[in-house]
Amino acid sequence: MIKIKSKSEIDAMREAGRISAKVLRMVGARVAPGVSTLELDQLAENIIRLEGAIPAFKGYGGFPGSICASVNDAVVHGIPSADVILQEGDIISIDTGAIIDGWVGDNAWTFPVGKISKEKQRLLDVTESCMWAAIDAARAGNRLGDIGHACQTIAEKAGYGVVREYVGHGIGHEMHEDPAVPNYGSAHSGLKLEEGMTFAIEPMINMGTYKIVDGDDGWLVTTADGLPSAHFEKTVAICDGDPIILTNE
Ligand code: MG
Repeated sequence: MIKIKSKSEIDAMREAGRISAKVLRMVGARVAPGVSTLELDQLAENIIRLEGAIPAFKGYGGFPGSICASVNDAVVHGIPSADVILQEGDIISIDTGAIIDGWVGDNAWTFPVGKISKEKQRLLDVTESCMWAAIDAARAGNRLGDIGHACQTIAEKAGYGVVREYVGHGIGHEMHEDPAVPNYGSAHSGLKLEEGMTFAIEPMINMGTYKIVDGDDGWLVTTADGLPSAHFEKTVAICDGDPIILTNE
C-alpha cells in the first residue's frame, strides 16, 4: 500500500533528509587512500547520534553498519570493515540513512578515492545523470515506468548495465515502503504518480553487465564480471506536482 504524505508530513521528513545528507557529505569528505570503511562507518554513526537521530541501517534486517560502503565492483550493501582499506584509484559507494521524529531519510553517492581513471569518472558522471533524469521524471501525472525509462535510456546509451534485482522504493515512516521503483522500464507504463508520493530514487549502474552476484556474507552484492559499479540516491517527494529533494542540507 502506498502511503501518500501531506505537505506537513513532507516538511517533517526534511529533517531526516537533512541529517542523511549531512552525514553523506561529511563521510564523503573523509574518503581518501588509507582510510578503512569501518572508520567511515564510525564517523557516520557519531554524526547521526550527535544530531539526535538513529542510524537507519544499523540493525536493519541484521545489517551491522551505519553505512553501506561498497568499493569498486561492489554494487550495494558492503559491510564496513577494518580490513577494507581504500586505495588510490578506487571508487566507493556510500549509502547513509537517518531516522528522526519517526521519519526516515536515505541517500547515496559514489566518491572517487584520490585520482581515478577516465573510465571510472565517466561511470560516475553517467550514473549521476541517470539519477537526475529519474528524479526529473517523478512528476504528478507521469507513471512509474517513466522514472525507470529515463534512467535506463541514459545508462544503456553509455554502454552500461542497469541492475535489475535492487531498485528504489517508497519511503516515509519505513525505509522501504511501496512502491518498488525500478531503474529500468517502459515510458507511460505502470502506476500513475501522484501528489504526496515520496521515493528513494537510486540508480545502480554497472560499467559492464547488469548481472550481479550475491556475496558470502549475506549482504555484499558485486558485479558478475568484476567491473566497477556506481550508486547515486536521493529521497524525493512529489510536491505541487514536481519532484523536490528531501535529502538536502
Ligand atoms: Mg534506498
